Amino acid sequence: MDQSVHDFAVRQPRDEPWYRPAGNEVTLFEQCHNRGLAVMLKGPTGCGKTRFVEHMAWRLGRPLITIPCHDDLAASDLIGRYLIRHDGTVWQDGPLTRAVREGAICYLDEVVEARQDTVVVLHALTDYRRTLPIDKTGENVRAAAGFQLVVSYNPGYQRMLKDLKPSTRQRFVAMDLDFPTPEHEALIVQHESGVEPALAKGLVSLALRIRQLRDRGLAEVPSTRLLIAAGTLTLCGIPVREACYAAVVSPLSDEPSMVSTLRDLVNGTF
Ligand code: ADP
Repeated sequence: MDQSVHDFAVRQPRDEPWYRPAGNEVTLFEQCHNRGLAVMLKGPTGCGKTRFVEHMAWRLGRPLITIPCHDDLAASDLIGRYLIRHDGTVWQDGPLTRAVREGAICYLDEVVEARQDTVVVLHALTDYRRTLPIDKTGENVRAAAGFQLVVSYNPGYQRMLKDLKPSTRQRFVAMDLDFPTPEHEALIVQHESGVEPALAKGLVSLALRIRQLRDRGLAEVPSTRLLIAAGTLTLCGIPVREACYAAVVSPLSDEPSMVSTLRDLVNGTF
């Protein structure tokens, strides 16, 4: 069987996944959930989209099924397929079908990576029908109460190569989740890595400087996730500059002059 069928996780954490809201996103999401509206989370990689969905699923008491999208993802990977066994063929639900039957929140991460013909299977779930037609079995599965479709989308990434069709985009309530304000981001780095407030602030000020290079040849800017990784390394005894070279500079660029600029910014900050 195709490996991608297994490529999803069902989670129902006991402890609250910690999330620091930036605005009214928690209320907005709750209202969408209560009214069965599908949600699109827009924002750069590592800005907290996944954590937000995990938090909301916990808050709403729903199981969360996460599906990382990629360009090989076929409709059958979402819906399911017949498996050939020694005693005959059996139908196996895919992760989307399972979420629809169980009333789970189904999170398609980086949906723009999926092929158009795969994304189209979502359409009947995002309007008044709230059903998933399964051609192979002839079944029309009605979404159980609590089912909600959530997709994430990074508008900057590969925008020239891939984009979502307007007919798909207009089926979602879109929420913009950008990097948090510096004060919020420092709190997040501090909470997630366990570093002292002063170091968290230093890491955020480094990130702000690097993010200004976005228009000067830096394709991807550092995410909150990278700052947390740098902070975590310092707590393992790695000197802060080394931690930033490894966790922030190297992941962002291979280009020698850019690497040298980024290292200078690290040395100027710490
Ligand atoms: P994305 O899904 O947007 O790529 P993630 O949700 O994986 O990003 O965020 C990366 C990490 O940053 C998370 O694991 C979490 O530690 C931290 N993070 C980012 N934003 C927040 C936030 N608002 N509240 C709590 N943690 C956050």
